[in-house]
Amino acid sequence: MSEKPENSLKQEIMRRNRINKIKKGIIYIAAIWMAASVFLSVTLLVRVIHLENTLKEVRANIPTVEQVKNTENQNLPGLNTDGSAGRDTIDIGEPIQQKEIQEEQTNSNEKRKVYLTFDDGPSVNTETILDILDEYQVKATFFVIGKTDEVSQEMYKEIVARGHTLGMHSYTHKYSVIYNSMEAFQQDYRQIHDYLQELTGVDCKYYRFPGGSSNQVSNRDMSEFISYLNSEGVTYYDWNVSSGDATSQAYTADELVGNVIGDVTKYKSSVVLMHDSISKPATVEALSSLIEQLQGMGAEILPIDENTVPIQHVKIDTQEGP
Ligand code: ZN
Repeated sequence: MSEKPENSLKQEIMRRNRINKIKKGIIYIAAIWMAASVFLSVTLLVRVIHLENTLKEVRANIPTVEQVKNTENQNLPGLNTDGSAGRDTIDIGEPIQQKEIQEEQTNSNEKRKVYLTFDDGPSVNTETILDILDEYQVKATFFVIGKTDEVSQEMYKEIVARGHTLGMHSYTHKYSVIYNSMEAFQQDYRQIHDYLQELTGVDCKYYRFPGGSSNQVSNRDMSEFISYLNSEGVTYYDWNVSSGDATSQAYTADELVGNVIGDVTKYKSSVVLMHDSISKPATVEALSSLIEQLQGMGAEILPIDENTVPIQHVKIDTQEGP
């Protein structure tokens, strides 16, 4: 009689033990699964943050497809009045390819040379820029594009009359056209060269490629265009210091000054990239302070001339022919 309850008690204890073991097993598995999930989530979060930062950096340097399209669609020659947005384009690929730029250590006894350059003008800002340069008795270089309105025509003449260097930056500033073929490039070059000569009497000898010679837009070998310019007696200039006013980051005037000063200290001779464009008011705002700080450093601010050592991102052998 007493064996039955004893057996059933044993069985009950064994059953409970089994259940407990299963429960413990489930808890262990759940705990391991949760720990693995947390670890995976944290890893993925770190990865996402890292990728977001990388994306931000990339975005800061490369315009979107829409911007490229807008740039190409807007730049129709002769259609713009002074300073209209159509001409005020982002220079695709203009961010400096740092690796290609040789850093020079500045000899402390030698005077630093700084060449301020303004691309994409004339614009509504040109006259203000000219006035500020006059105020400090500083000469600069304007790499201009083709604009046919009266105010722009006046500005080309003013740039020359006030002693600055007039350089070419293509007529259309339309990447898809000028970099499409050698014929198209030559036609655009002649158009801006002859237009400026007719207006100002200056036979321009300096050229800046839209987007720079290291632009990522041209499908053609840039050295073909460089050879052509050289055959015309024209020297092209890139830059080794960028104000950053063409990037998608909306730098304040103070930040633009900081960008330039920070890099100018690295070189004996700096060619500084800035923009003369309605969409770059901070550049105008920065100019006085920039000049004052450069002069405070003892730098010599000069216009590009035949003695200026070119800064070129793409080098070619120019020793061909007599
Ligand atoms: Zn440009």
